[in-house]
Amino acid sequence: MKRGLLIVVSGASGTGKGTVCKKILDDLPGIAYSVSATTRAPRPGEIDGKEYYFLSREDFKAWIAEEKFLEFAEVYGNFYGTPLNKIEERLNRGEDILLEIDVQGALNVKKKCPEGVYIFLLPPSLEELKRRIEGRGTETPESLSRRLANAVAEIKIGLEYDYVVVNDTVDNAVAQIKSILTAERLKVARNFDKFNFKGDFLNET
Ligand code: ADP
Ligand code: 5GP
Repeated sequence: MKRGLLIVVSGASGTGKGTVCKKILDDLPGIAYSVSATTRAPRPGEIDGKEYYFLSREDFKAWIAEEKFLEFAEVYGNFYGTPLNKIEERLNRGEDILLEIDVQGALNVKKKCPEGVYIFLLPPSLEELKRRIEGRGTETPESLSRRLANAVAEIKIGLEYDYVVVNDTVDNAVAQIKSILTAERLKVARNFDKFNFKGDFLNET
């Protein structure tokens, strides 16, 4: 059984990770989304267990103590973590898993799983990033300026990733991510089985 791909997508808040990842998951039904846990409050329309597992700080600490996380990090004053949730067994069963997590978490996962596919999503410009966060209408003026101030530092960490995709249009970004996944699946290291030719025609000559 071929091991699945661990796909990690990060980028500054407001770049469009959620939007792009949703389209990838809709278009490529074989990929499972890793639902993170968070202590932040749900946004309108977010459902517990779908976008996130919404936990109290006490419950989040209990999950840490029970070693239920592959990684966790504090982002903008709230905790976020990737539940272990049998990720290793699922990859070994050939399942592809998509993690949409912040840069601190991604670098921690990269140390544990260097064979993962690390994709950094960039906004076309900082002005467009600001417009997108404002347009989403989810932030207070304070949290907007905090996210923008942090974006520049976060974007520099993108240099540590394997791939960079500019989210100019969602369709372009999704097409580029699909190309990355196609190339990753064609790596020799993932396809040793294809080199095992059976048959004895070589003995016939
Ligand atoms: P993130 O998950 O990175 O914080 P979101 O997916 O919530 O970002 O996107 C932030 C806002 O930008 C949303 O209102 C979304 O509709 C919009 N958006 C996402 N991608 C694009 C794009 N390529 N062009 C224009 N707007 C976009
Ligand atoms: P938001 O509150 O906008 O949904 O997410 C804020 C940030 O937390 C985003 O950068 C998002 O990628 C990140 N994030 C979401 N889930 C996780 C996770 O499980 N671990 C880490 N480290 N970051 C996460």
